Amino acid sequence: MDGGRLRQRNLSAVLSRVHRRGGMTRADLTRELGLNRSTIGDLVIALADAGWVTEVDDAPRLGAGRPSPRVVATDDRLVIAVNPELDAVEVGLVALGGRVLERVRVPAAQPTVEDAVAIAASTARDLAERNPRSRVVAAVAAVPGLVRSDDGLVRVAPHLGWREQPFGTLLAEALGVPATAVNDAQSGCQAELAFGAGSGTRSMVYLNGGASGIGGGIVMDGRLLQGRDGHAGELGHLGIDTDGPRCACGARGCLEAMVDRRAVVRELGLEHPDDAELATAIAESRDHALGALLTAQFGSLRAGLRSIATALNPEMVILGGYLATLWTVVSESERHNALSDALPAVAADLRIEIAALGANRLLIGAAERAWEPLLDDPLGTSGNQASTGTPRDARSPSSASRSSSSTGSSMAPIASRADSARVEPITGQ
Ligand SMILES: [Zn+2]
Repeated sequence: MDGGRLRQRNLSAVLSRVHRRGGMTRADLTRELGLNRSTIGDLVIALADAGWVTEVDDAPRLGAGRPSPRVVATDDRLVIAVNPELDAVEVGLVALGGRVLERVRVPAAQPTVEDAVAIAASTARDLAERNPRSRVVAAVAAVPGLVRSDDGLVRVAPHLGWREQPFGTLLAEALGVPATAVNDAQSGCQAELAFGAGSGTRSMVYLNGGASGIGGGIVMDGRLLQGRDGHAGELGHLGIDTDGPRCACGARGCLEAMVDRRAVVRELGLEHPDDAELATAIAESRDHALGALLTAQFGSLRAGLRSIATALNPEMVILGGYLATLWTVVSESERHNALSDALPAVAADLRIEIAALGANRLLIGAAERAWEPLLDDPLGTSGNQASTGTPRDARSPSSASRSSSSTGSSMAPIASRADSARVEPITGQ
């Protein structure tokens, strides 16, 4: 490895750690990275000069000696994260460290792609104006549907009624920064991996039960598994029972048709409960039919977990949304036996955890996708496009998503090109 490449890798290692941990001392960085103190000092200064980090003296003083300042991420660069949903479009301003500085929810009944882009653009402009000392370097959308990882094309988002919509490209054109789109459950998975229950794991599966079904994400070797087109992790359509009820996808007995939140909501006679209300209603119910329904659903969830464990052998499975509720309301012994019929070798040390992050997780996780290429090459030294790239080029979402899904690639299109959009990242419409 040549010196430049080595330095890029070290810069990436320092910034990635500061990002994930919310700040670290030089001493801790030195120890963890196995580099000498002067090298760490040089890397920290380079990142500070580029505006990525600053050093703060907020550590408690322990005994004699100088307190060690912490290297923390600045708010110099921000990502706009967008989450179009059935009833609203959420737009957030996300800083390094998974910090959502602002989040705005704009009500919109089943927004069209044009609606969602317009809302995202005007909200992003307001947010950027309120944070004039920062600059927006990328945008990303978490979409409830199948999204092609190459270019952020939404193949189908059934509940929104979107088909073959180039949402990432439209967002990039409206915002004037590189943009892409990702699947919402994969976003939740990335957030839990970076800052939640999955922090520190190398292999995990995230399963989320939402109002419209079950989504998922798979992490292997510390990276989100994409599959050929980015659709890996659609675990709601794992086949559980070929004689089961018809699924929205057309097949019978998919996991999400068997573990159906709506059936529980109906049984309880509720209207549109959020997860907390649903959990409370289940806990207070003495309805035997509900008990039988939950037991049957838990049996199907067990079958799904067994398939996941067998196919992937992860360290951890994280359950979010309704699946976390279901996991919590069954008995201790049912939880204990959840994997009793799985292969002992894969079940033995498999941990099943509840998602740790709250309502911000989709925005945080989507932003992770946008940060990835920047963290890989913080100073944009590996790309030759920096000097020639125009804002128009910078809008290619395919370059963003390709580099984010590659391992240690030499591409850094967002980092280098985003600088060309520095002056006025959010353009007026
Ligand atoms: Zn299905």
